[in-house]
Amino acid sequence: MKNRFGMNRRDWMMLSGAGLAMPPGAAQAQGAAPPANDLDAVLPDQLLLKDYRPKSIYKIQVSEIKKAKYPAIDCHHHVQSKTQEQVDEEVKIMDAAGLESSVAFCPVGEGPNYRASAFDDAYKIYSKYPKRFYIYCGLDMRGVDQAGFGPATIAELERCHKMGAVGVGELHDKGMGIGGVIGGPANWPGTRKGPGGASARPPQSPIQGFHPDAPQLDAIWEKCADLGMPVNLHVSDPYWSYLPQNRFNDGLMNGFSWRLDNKPGIMGHNELIESYEAAAKRHRRTVFIASHLANLDYDLPRLSQIFERNPNFYADFSARFHETCTVPRATAQFLKKWAHRVPYGTDIPFSQHLFSLTYRILETTDEHFYDQDFYFNFNYHWPLYGMGLPDDVLKKIYRESALSAFRLAQSKAKG
Ligand SMILES: [Zn+2]
Repeated sequence: MKNRFGMNRRDWMMLSGAGLAMPPGAAQAQGAAPPANDLDAVLPDQLLLKDYRPKSIYKIQVSEIKKAKYPAIDCHHHVQSKTQEQVDEEVKIMDAAGLESSVAFCPVGEGPNYRASAFDDAYKIYSKYPKRFYIYCGLDMRGVDQAGFGPATIAELERCHKMGAVGVGELHDKGMGIGGVIGGPANWPGTRKGPGGASARPPQSPIQGFHPDAPQLDAIWEKCADLGMPVNLHVSDPYWSYLPQNRFNDGLMNGFSWRLDNKPGIMGHNELIESYEAAAKRHRRTVFIASHLANLDYDLPRLSQIFERNPNFYADFSARFHETCTVPRATAQFLKKWAHRVPYGTDIPFSQHLFSLTYRILETTDEHFYDQDFYFNFNYHWPLYGMGLPDDVLKKIYRESALSAFRLAQSKAKG
């Protein structure tokens, strides 16, 4: 069946006002509705924001896309599988969703929690599909706050590369440096708990690591360049996490889950971004893929400037669909210019629902739909919108930008 976008190889469900046979809201591909309970009867003067689950009443286009319009590469995926059978299942989901291949971040842990065996175990089962997974290693940052730090980290990086790792990540600096640990009170768990959710992180004693442009990391970034390994580095966090957690906070519920305003001794958002760019400037041969649009989803003009100044700087789109699709026109404008530097990514365990949702946001012009209960804490109170990106932009985001980052890194390798 061919629809008005000329996309005939996918499942679309187009509902016009006249053809709508289901009750309002029921047709939308949303997460499970909250169980019918007393909450449904709570009146607005008592209802809490965290319990608010509006349903769209609009009789408008609702699209369900099973496969990406063009072959896609997921540039930000944390592997979950522990057995070969589970990897096989992941690959089946990829096939159904049109995902050609995926980066595979191994669960090695960070800072004091690094475990070399976690890379080895993941490598064993994911390397069965060499054409489907780009297997990344982490960085052994144990002892980052002690004298003599450095050589052991590089030796472990070389070992993983020799074994088959083609990239490094995901690394983090949310304010205490790479390899550091943020202290302070635990975060709000959000309305949905789950793997990777804020609730999973108990309060810890702080450890000071190194920010991206610290001279102590120079040799490590140069080694990544020598080995042709791109670095996926998450720096800072969504801007709402830094703002006062009150009624003026536009991204309040997620800002509160990921709050940083109450964490002592951390570097601020702006300084972190500056440190990141300084590292990219100093290490021109190293390819940095900033996680999550470099947490500049709220300030894409600034990200444009960083792209302009730094040809070795990319930014993956992962886990920023909800944040950007509420400003679909501004985001589409940005992507029309920079799609070749913005690889597609998810950051969430593979499922058909995940892929369909991201394709819907990128490809369609659907309006005003909700998915608040999907995964662990996308608790934004706003509806989602499709960006309706043109084909040339989709091709770049889905595949070409990731390949260009990999090629650029390879072209800088020595030996
Ligand atoms: Zn991240």
